[in-house]
Amino acid sequence: MNFIESYISNPTILKLQGAIQHYAWGGKSFIPELLHRDNATAEPFAEYWLGAHPKSPAIIKANEESIGLNMLFTAAPQLLGAAVINNFGPALPYLFKILDAREMLSIQAHPSKQQAREGFTRENARGIPLDAPNRNYKDNNHKPEVHVALTDFYMLHGFRPLAEIETMLNGIPEFAPLLPEFAGNDLKNLYRVIMTMPQRQVDDLLNPLLARLEPLFAQGKLTPDAPDYWAVQASRSFPLSEGHRDRGLFSIYLLNLVHLQPGQGTFQAAGVPHAYLRGVNVELMANSDNVLRGGLTPKYIDAQELLKTLSFAAGKPEILNGDKVSATETVYKTPARDFELSKIHLTNNERWSAPALHGPDILIALEGQAIISAAQNQMEISRGVACFAPAGLDYHINSTTGVVLFRATVPLNNKE
Ligand SMILES: [Zn+2]
Repeated sequence: MNFIESYISNPTILKLQGAIQHYAWGGKSFIPELLHRDNATAEPFAEYWLGAHPKSPAIIKANEESIGLNMLFTAAPQLLGAAVINNFGPALPYLFKILDAREMLSIQAHPSKQQAREGFTRENARGIPLDAPNRNYKDNNHKPEVHVALTDFYMLHGFRPLAEIETMLNGIPEFAPLLPEFAGNDLKNLYRVIMTMPQRQVDDLLNPLLARLEPLFAQGKLTPDAPDYWAVQASRSFPLSEGHRDRGLFSIYLLNLVHLQPGQGTFQAAGVPHAYLRGVNVELMANSDNVLRGGLTPKYIDAQELLKTLSFAAGKPEILNGDKVSATETVYKTPARDFELSKIHLTNNERWSAPALHGPDILIALEGQAIISAAQNQMEISRGVACFAPAGLDYHINSTTGVVLFRATVPLNNKE
């Protein structure tokens, strides 16, 4: 009997080895330290994926075998639970990550389910290969995201309140030519103009701004709580290519600049423009690759498709501090049905028990030590260790000295 067959007859907790993504923007110490890995060559460790994405699944080490978590679900979809299969099909509906941004990521938004379905069908019909650089829709799914900061974290999230945008446009002399485009607080028009204006006009607006800001930055007069600081950072991270400026710089002024403390997070619903600027977080999203970009990237930008997708609702972003659902668990609630993120914090000799009904769970320990037990099986976990619990498995976590874990699951009862 091979590992999968014997596991199906006696499912329990499995240790997972996640997949490291070495994207160039990644930090060089947080993820290697978390995983107790040497990084003498200072490689960027951008993301640590804990999921069943066929491109980079988490790996189960069993005896001599290495099995992708996706293969486990292919062989035994029942480990996902009937509710998950009925709602999402026979695949893990989420992707769980640790992410470390040393340099800023692109400004982006994700489509709704309907937009993704239509876009995927349309691009298939046009014969655009899935891996083509101008392909927007890699699959037919939406990609809501929730994340919680593990360090000081800076990001852009949603359009600023209209009054703030007006004050900003009035306060930056280089942006004066844009003011008429915002007449009547027409944010959509302003953004459309910015995203579709000829590159020469972008350069003409941004060059004098950066010429004014660069010396202030060099003198240490700009701080990360001001958009000017990130405009200079962006111009360094995305240097002039053929003498041109990245039009994503405008969005640094149009979107809310959010500074999260560890333990705080946000939810990115469909259409909400956002960008991670700097910091480490734990992130949980629907199982999709659909990203529409709006700058701060050398990658393909489809301004028309982005404009169709974006939400122009302006206002202050909601900061998630998490809701304590028990003495030991804090849930970061969102409207997403595909996933739920929570933090389990046990101090001396505390115990957490999985609810009777739960989806497929993935956990990662960030601090301390604990024992996870299910039936006769026990597993010791400590910082950096991740594990998987199939849907409905009766399992418990005990810690004598304290532990902090993040848990990804699929909410089964509390959402329609
Ligand atoms: Zn995103």
